[in-house]
Amino acid sequence: MPARDSEAIRRELVARIPGWYIPWVHLVGPSLVGFALIATAVRWIERPSVWELLFVLPVLVLANANEWVLHKGVLHHRVPGLGFAFERHTPQHHGAFTCRTTCPRTAPWGASRSSACCAAITRATTHPS
Ligand SMILES: [Zn+2]
Repeated sequence: MPARDSEAIRRELVARIPGWYIPWVHLVGPSLVGFALIATAVRWIERPSVWELLFVLPVLVLANANEWVLHKGVLHHRVPGLGFAFERHTPQHHGAFTCRTTCPRTAPWGASRSSACCAAITRATTHPS
């Protein structure tokens, strides 16, 4: 699949956004629900032990690993029954947001544009499996 112009992909996607869509509601709505759930959960905590507090770290690691596996597997490969997720993510999302628009111009260690970021995005958008 040849790489398409990211600006053209972005214009096409923006043109498909329905008139009723309100971006700040999309941002604030789920955030408020998440913060309310966190606040409710925090109120239920009563004098946690050190081990209970340390348990948070492996849960965060596992949650991030889960996200990474789903991203790499379901969002970057056509999985039977989940093709819609691949279509929305790889050709559209990574097509509109290329390494030019999403990767840091200069990596913290001084290299120009994060090569790993650009390589991953380019591979996902030009060679989806
Ligand atoms: Zn991706």
